[in-house]
Formats: sequence, C-alpha cells, structure tokens
Amino acid sequence: MIVDRQGRRFRNLRISLTSACNYACTYCVPNGKRLVAAQDELSAEAMARGVAYLIEAAGIERLRITGGEPLVSPKLEAFMTAVGQMGLEDISLTTNGQLLAKKLPLLVNAGIRRINVSLDTLDASAFRGIARGGDLATVLDGMDQASAAGMKIKVNMVPLRGQNLDQVMPLLEYCLERGYELRFIELMRMGHLASDSNAFLQQFVSLQQLLDLIGERYEYLQADAPVDATAVRYEIPGMGHFGVIANESVPFCRTCSRLRLSSTGWLHGCLSSSNRHFVGDLLDKPRHQALPALQRLLVKALGDKQEVAFSGGATVMKIIGG
Ligand code: SAM
Repeated sequence: MIVDRQGRRFRNLRISLTSACNYACTYCVPNGKRLVAAQDELSAEAMARGVAYLIEAAGIERLRITGGEPLVSPKLEAFMTAVGQMGLEDISLTTNGQLLAKKLPLLVNAGIRRINVSLDTLDASAFRGIARGGDLATVLDGMDQASAAGMKIKVNMVPLRGQNLDQVMPLLEYCLERGYELRFIELMRMGHLASDSNAFLQQFVSLQQLLDLIGERYEYLQADAPVDATAVRYEIPGMGHFGVIANESVPFCRTCSRLRLSSTGWLHGCLSSSNRHFVGDLLDKPRHQALPALQRLLVKALGDKQEVAFSGGATVMKIIGG
C-alpha cells in the first residue's frame, strides 16, 4: 500500500468517463461552449482495466463515475458492466440528470444505488442562465424516477452570490421533502476561477453564510461523517440531513483519499496541483508490466497532494472529473 507522511492513501477513485458535457455551467466553462469528447479518449475496456490495475496497485475500494457528463458517453454500458464485476465496496455516479430517466434501466442493472445529481436552482430561467444547456423539468423528473427505482439521491448545488442564493432554501426544502440529501459545494478556484480572483470572490458563498441562512428557518446539529469525507454534514432533527463541501472554509486535504483518472489516461493526485501522470500507455500492457510502473507514478501522484488546504488549480473540472 502506498501511504504518505500524513498517513494518506488512495482509497477513492474518480473516473472522468468523458470530458464531453451537455451543459456549459458558467463556473466550469468560461466560453459557454458545450464540450465534445477529446479525440484521444481511452476506450471503455482500457478505462476498466485502469480501474482493475488501480485496485491492485493503490488499494482503491470505492469508485465514482463522473465527467464531463458520464451519461452522454457511449462507453457507459461497457465500462459499468466491467467495473461491476471487480468487487468494489461502492460504485456511484455524478450526473447533471439530463439523461437520468433514459439511462435508469442501465444504471439499475449495473447495480448503481447511489447517485449525485448536480442542480443549482429550481428556477427554470436561472437554470438556463447557469447551466447553459438542458432543461430543469427533465432533471426533476429523472430524480423522481431514480428515487422511485430505489436509488439514494444526493443533490449537488454550487451557491453563487447574485445568481442562485435565493434558491438555497427552496432547494433545501425540495430535497428534505423527498428524502434527497442536499450538498452545497463551496465554489472552487478551478479552471478560469483559479486565475480570476475577482470573479471568484464576487460569486463565492461560504459555509458560514449558508449556515446563517438555513439557521433563520431551521435548527440543525452537526452529524457524523466518515474520516475522509469531504462534506461537513448536518442534521435537521426530524426532517433530514444536508452537507457542505467547504473547500475554502473547512479544508479537507489532510484526510483526502481521492485519486482521479481522466478520460484521456492522466492520473491526478490532487485537484489543486497542475501535476498529472500519463498512464494511458500502461493500460494496454499486461498486469506484470503495468503494475510496477503504475506504482511509481502513484507515489508521485500522492506526493502532489496539498498539505493542508486547497489553493486552486488551472484544470477545468469537467476534464479532471468533479
Ligand atoms: N456532469 C456531471 C455533473 O454535472 O454532476 C459531473 C461532472 S461536474 C464537473 C461535477 C461537479 O463539479 C458538479 O456538481 C459541478 O457543479 C461541480 N463543479 C464544477 N466546477 C466547479 C467549481 N469551480 N466549484 C465548485 N464545483 C464545481
């Protein structure tokens, strides 16, 4: 097992199945263009082999499939079928929900029981302004259907000053009523926001600001969360839970166990580091050749992690897999 001086190791793998996305969220894609897949994306088979090798070489136990938008990828079915047979403790998926209803049978058959759906507002016009793609009613219907099919749903919302702060309470209530857990994600200094401090600070909403807002209507208590959790979790007694991924306010680098593999074969040990390590060529090699080389790169990737706090990264979230 590869462990660093702080006792951190890679336990959670995030796979960006494709960098293509049917949205162009303002905080993720500055030019508003919806991305097509990169020319040199790995095949479903190579990516699945990557997961198998990383289970062995790094001790990966949990997998999250993300992107880009994973549900637009033609690789989805073959990839999920392959990783479903690897004995992982947990496989989950992050999606914008636009194709959720359509892909639900595939996801259910592949054994997915937990999904995170990104949704920044319940206001259709604000939705169009932020996501710059898709349709709000389709997302809500997708969540209803997934919930009826027995899936546990978390909703990811990025609160943005001047754009959707008025949606914090409506979204919280919507989620509490339906048994979904709302996760606020503090805006991260990623991509164009890493170099544009003004744009970041103008939009940033902190954990404390969120708690103040919620505290005006509800009493809440801090709830338990796993040691390497990224979210601070709260309970509203008798009603449900919500969480805040507070990258800025409560940095979680000291306990970070995440490793990322991009759709073009790059390993990223840290969102905040511009270092990345190419493993695409190793995934075509037999196990006995690939594993030693992979282990050397994993040591480097673990060394890329920040000591304490996330300071920002030029990589665009949809490339690296949020
Ligand atoms: N397409 C999928 C989705 O929409 O959930 C998965 C990929 S998306 C990049 C994953 C998550 O990253 C989304 O919840 C999105 O809101 C979040 N995200 C992207 N850029 C971000 C930023 N700069 N700060 C905080 N969250 C960000």
